[in-house]
Amino acid sequence: MHSVSQLISKFPRAELISLPTPVERLDRMSNKLGIDLWMKRDDLTGLSFGGNKTRQLEYYIGAAVEKKAHTILITGAVQSNFVRTAAAAAAKFGMKSILQLEERVPDMGSMYYSSGNVLLSNLLDVEHMYFPEGENESGADAALAKRAAELVAHGQVPFIIPLGIDHPPLGSVGYVKGGAELADQMPEFDVGIVPSGSGATHGGLLTGLRLSGINSPIYGICVRRDAVQQKNRMNRLTQKLAELLDIERPFKQEDILTWDGTLAPGYGQVGQKSLYALKLMAQTEGIMLDPVYTSKTFAGLLGLLEEGRILPGQKVLMLHTGGLPAIFSYQESLIN
Ligand SMILES: *Cc1c(COP(=O)(O)O)cnc(C)c1O
Repeated sequence: MHSVSQLISKFPRAELISLPTPVERLDRMSNKLGIDLWMKRDDLTGLSFGGNKTRQLEYYIGAAVEKKAHTILITGAVQSNFVRTAAAAAAKFGMKSILQLEERVPDMGSMYYSSGNVLLSNLLDVEHMYFPEGENESGADAALAKRAAELVAHGQVPFIIPLGIDHPPLGSVGYVKGGAELADQMPEFDVGIVPSGSGATHGGLLTGLRLSGINSPIYGICVRRDAVQQKNRMNRLTQKLAELLDIERPFKQEDILTWDGTLAPGYGQVGQKSLYALKLMAQTEGIMLDPVYTSKTFAGLLGLLEEGRILPGQKVLMLHTGGLPAIFSYQESLIN
C-alpha cells in the first residue's frame, strides 16, 4: 500500500489550516437517533470562516505561489464558499482575486446578493465578474480563461482555479490528505456521510480513506445533481484523481455511493427536510449547519437511517464542511 503523505508530497502546499481538525462525539444526538454519531469539524478550518474549501485551496494556492501568480481567478454560485475562501487565501499570500459569480439559484431575495459570502468578498476587496448561466461549467471556465488572457497581455501572471470536470482535480488532493487524517483519528467506523457537490471533497476523502485501509461505506449526499449523474461524475473525478496521484484507483466504481433523497427542491434551495435537520442539529447540539450543503447532508443521514442503510447502534461519521456565512444570506428561507 502507498503511504498517502508520500503520494501527495510532490504537490506544493500553501499552509492555510492548523491540522488536524477536531473529531467530536455528538452525545445528545446519538441518544436521540439511537446511533453512535461523530462529526469531523471541517467547519473549523479557520481563515475567513473556513470550511472544506480551505483544504482544497492549500493545493491550488500552493500551485499559484509556485507559479509566482499575481492574481487568482475562480468561479462559483453567488453564495459560493469556495470563491469567498479563495479570496481570503489569496489575500494571505499577497495575491489579488477575480471572482466570477454565476446565477445558479432561482428566485432569491436581496440578501442573497448582498449578505453572507458576498459581503465577506467585498470586505476582502476583490474584482467581481458575473456569469448568467449556472449550469454551464465549461462556459464559466472559458470566461475565466478570457479574463486571464487579458491579464497576461498586461504582463500579469494569472492562476485559474477551474470548475469543470475535465481539469486535474488538484483540490481533491487536500481531501486525500483529509482522509488519511481522519483514518488516524478514527480507525474504525461503520458508515461515513459527506456532501457531494463538485465532488472534490467526496472523491478525495474516499480515496484517502481507502489508501489508509478504511473500507467502510462512504455515502455522498447529493446537493446539486441526482444520484445517477453524481455517481458518473464521481467515477470520472476519482479516475482523474488517481491519474494525478499516479496510482491505480484504490476502489471500484461500485464503491462510489451517492444518495439524493434530500436534494429537492434543488441546488441552493432549502427544502423542509433540510430546514428540519438544521434546526434539529442546532437545538440538540448547538452546532450550526449551513442551508446549502450540510443541512441537506445531515437530512441525508436521517434519511439513510430511516431506510435502514444506517442501522441502530452503528458508529457513523459525518463530515461538517462549513459554509456558515450563507446562513445570513438565506435568512428569508430559514425563518418562517
Ligand atoms: C462546496 C461545498 C461543499 C461541496 O464540496 P465539493 O468538494 O464541491 O463536493 C460542501 N459543503 C460546503 C459548505 C461547501 O462550501
